[in-house]
Amino acid sequence: MGTLHVSEANVRDGTNNQDATMKTIPNHIGGDWVAASGPELLPLTDPATGELLAHVPLSNRADVGAAVDAATRAFPEWRATPAVERARVLFRLKALLEENLEDLAVSLTREHGKNVAETRGEVRRGIENIEHACGVPTLMMGSTLEDVAPGIDCETIRQPLGVFAAITPYNFPVMVPMWFWPYAVATGNTFVLKPSEQDVLTHQRVVELAVEAGLPPGVLNVVHGQQEAAIALLEHPEIKGVSFVGSSGIAKAVYTKAAATGKRVQALGGAKNHMIVLPDADYELTTEAIVASVFGSAGQRCLAGSVIIGVEDAYEPMREQILDRASSLRLGYGLEDGVDIGPVISAAHRDRVVSFIDQGTQEGATLLLDGRNVEIAGYPEGHWVGPTVFDEVGPDMAIGKEEIFGPVAGFTQAASLEDAIELMHKNQYGNATSIFTTSGRAAREFRYHAGISMIGVNIGVAAPMAFFPFGGSRGSFYGDLKAQGQDAIDFYTDKRVVISRW
Ligand code: NAD
Repeated sequence: MGTLHVSEANVRDGTNNQDATMKTIPNHIGGDWVAASGPELLPLTDPATGELLAHVPLSNRADVGAAVDAATRAFPEWRATPAVERARVLFRLKALLEENLEDLAVSLTREHGKNVAETRGEVRRGIENIEHACGVPTLMMGSTLEDVAPGIDCETIRQPLGVFAAITPYNFPVMVPMWFWPYAVATGNTFVLKPSEQDVLTHQRVVELAVEAGLPPGVLNVVHGQQEAAIALLEHPEIKGVSFVGSSGIAKAVYTKAAATGKRVQALGGAKNHMIVLPDADYELTTEAIVASVFGSAGQRCLAGSVIIGVEDAYEPMREQILDRASSLRLGYGLEDGVDIGPVISAAHRDRVVSFIDQGTQEGATLLLDGRNVEIAGYPEGHWVGPTVFDEVGPDMAIGKEEIFGPVAGFTQAASLEDAIELMHKNQYGNATSIFTTSGRAAREFRYHAGISMIGVNIGVAAPMAFFPFGGSRGSFYGDLKAQGQDAIDFYTDKRVVISRW
């Protein structure tokens, strides 16, 4: 990776450790590591220690144009490369990722904050997408039917479309990009990624490994930046389809803009996930699952549990047990042993989570465990929010209806499963939900009526695997084809129908 001189750069939101020769992250365009043309940079800091790790450039429309041109030029040759050979590049990349897994996990903890067990898990999920995409020679097959009329045969063939793009969030900066580009390039497309500007280092290393694995120049391009670069991608006429993952307001706007220019689009948005506990649940298992769901990754997951609905007699014991367990969680630097919860990504995000907690108290919820004003010895610069638990959370309160994206649980009670589902449906989002019960009948009833796309049964984080689709419904998703699974192959190929008579 190139180290660039940035003495003339305008560093915004400066930290206490600005260094004009600090590494500036280059874009990756046409196989080269190149400086973005715009002068503006953002500091990238370790959210636990405050250490300045790098500068991220804010690429402009010209940078995006150069990346799309490189991807367009690379497309014909890459498309003509046999699927087995494209897959072989991914097999080599999988091996390199396995070899580098620990380094990648440590790098990810340093730039994101979550603990190293969580970052190992994230890299593993990314690798699973590479593994699935390696099956492209079979996944991409078409179908044939002889004699659709006498002597006439009909077949479908799947063809790549050209250049695709993705715009991705900060909370899974390695895994989320890998929901997309491995499938796009496996199917013969070329790609431009605009990752989150908040934590780019570890995925940048993944791109270096992809180059080492033999991915040809221009097949995968990366442009760093914010809104300007993202919008330039959405408006570029050469881009055939866009995947977006981020907050719902932007997801909806991205969907509208990309669809208006005739692109394929899948836009995955925010969440407010409800966990429903029935009185017959195994409370111990349920406590572990819900605590991991709500507080893992400091709540910065689109699958994080947020509102816990105790049905009838489940309410009180669940509230007490989860409160007890939450109080014992250890906050700290994610590379240290025994740390359950790392910092949140930035001071701005910490302030946002804290303002939700303030609002919860003002709106009448009962604060049982307060994660504000936490200090961790040795880490005065960390963006800390401790586990927080509210009781009596109503569906119209800000903490009951908005996505907090922090380690905050809100309890409420329902008289029946039906009432719990009704309460859940008052919310605009529909990403994930879970039920905890020992009754197969209740679980079946729940999955039938939940109307939410990712459903956990005695599972706190309803995370489908690479070979299943991933994405929500209602205000959590705009589009039709989801990420991963067979949907990814459908998104990145067009089914062309050939009808022949000889
Ligand atoms: P965000 O919406 O702030 O940013 C996401 C991406 O959009 C970033 O790359 C950002 O630079 C870019 N962006 C910013 N302004 C834009 C604009 N006007 N047009 C287009 N792109 C723009 O999200 P975040 O804070 O990075 O991530 C957290 C959010 O992502 C949460 O809401 C979380 O639920 C969601 N998320 C959803 C899923 C899912 O599968 N549904 C998965 C992970 C994260």
